[in-house]
Amino acid sequence: MKLTFLLLLLCGTAPMAWGWSNHTVGSYLALQDLSALHNAPQVEVEPLEQFLAQQYEAVSALLEEQEQFAREHFAQYPPRPDNLRLPTVPGDNLRHDFLTAMRINPQIHLAMVIQPLPGKDLAEREHLKTEQVMVEQTLSPWNRQRFIRVADGEKVAPLAVLASAADEPDYGHDINLFSDNPGLVGALYGFGPQSFGDARFQYSSQAPFHMGFFHESEVVYAAAGFLQRSWPDWRAYQYRGLARLAFATGHPYWGYRFLGWGLHHVQDLTQPYHAKPLPGVELASLLLLESKALAGFDADKQAAIERVATRHMEVEKYQSTWLRRLLREGQPHPMLKAYADLVQDVRYPPYSVDYLLEVVSAESADASAAFDEAIGQWLDTAPATSDFSAGNQVQREDFDHPALNRQLFRLLGHFGAHSRIYVSTGLAP
Ligand SMILES: [Zn+2]
Repeated sequence: MKLTFLLLLLCGTAPMAWGWSNHTVGSYLALQDLSALHNAPQVEVEPLEQFLAQQYEAVSALLEEQEQFAREHFAQYPPRPDNLRLPTVPGDNLRHDFLTAMRINPQIHLAMVIQPLPGKDLAEREHLKTEQVMVEQTLSPWNRQRFIRVADGEKVAPLAVLASAADEPDYGHDINLFSDNPGLVGALYGFGPQSFGDARFQYSSQAPFHMGFFHESEVVYAAAGFLQRSWPDWRAYQYRGLARLAFATGHPYWGYRFLGWGLHHVQDLTQPYHAKPLPGVELASLLLLESKALAGFDADKQAAIERVATRHMEVEKYQSTWLRRLLREGQPHPMLKAYADLVQDVRYPPYSVDYLLEVVSAESADASAAFDEAIGQWLDTAPATSDFSAGNQVQREDFDHPALNRQLFRLLGHFGAHSRIYVSTGLAP
């Protein structure tokens, strides 16, 4: 029972790496009217090595403090092996030492780029190719990002740095960190074997840092304890602390960039498919599916898994295609308003280190069954193409599906509000 249950959930998890496709676009929209950002002066682009060299002691102390806190605070937290801490005397590869002390994939490019809003491409500026920005495992044929290279010392808008950085954790930060993943660091980082993720996708190893199933029943956890081994909340905590240190010590470029990294993990959890392994499948049905599968009839179980994967994929395609079209048209629209609606923010409790778990993912898990059902009803009226990259279906799409759109706008409202709440707490003096 235990093993097959485990497989059921494992297979249904993480068909897509990203929540709400390109995080940069959503961040621009969500944060555009935040006064703390609006009134902030432009910042100078700074190499990571310069920040680390100038603040080496402060960064070392912060990472030690964070490690102690994480061991006490986060459930199922795998302690960082002591030999990964920053050396007392700075070595000659600051970047590598920093990334390994943070337990981030040391192969990431950390390109110095910003993404413009769609339609504001700045064609005259030098662009980097996707493979210069993202590691191989995260490249995909449907990427639509444009990466404009920025030079050291160049002045850039805080919002551009922050919004661009919000997409960055999907470029390889959390790829191959587990002991059973390929590469060199999995054996050193202490995360143990990969807890979940869909092996059909090359980037699946990042799933336990970008999804969190914090609101399952005890029965589910008892049978599938691996679902609790995920750490998006820890990542958001790490990056927020670093951002605050960078701001406090006069390195605002890295302040905004680190804050953008943490923002990514908050935003991922606003996507119901990142907060619930099989939305719409109640515990009783789950057990029934499983007992039928055990008796040799696993067609229903396979169908449930595939249904969830398809719905997740199709709704992200629908939303991102529609959003790109709206931005090109440049007219006011309820979807754009949902991202930017500041009125939402006061509904939530103040930010805390458990905010992702207690507020963001709880809300997503609550919304997941109705969202999944609305997607199902939409797909019944407009059958999905099986080939995501072909996009035939969305090209014919008129986006006239009120029941689905209502849910979508509500969820994008959550995305906007939690983005502003996290950024505000990172910027607060
Ligand atoms: Zn992600």
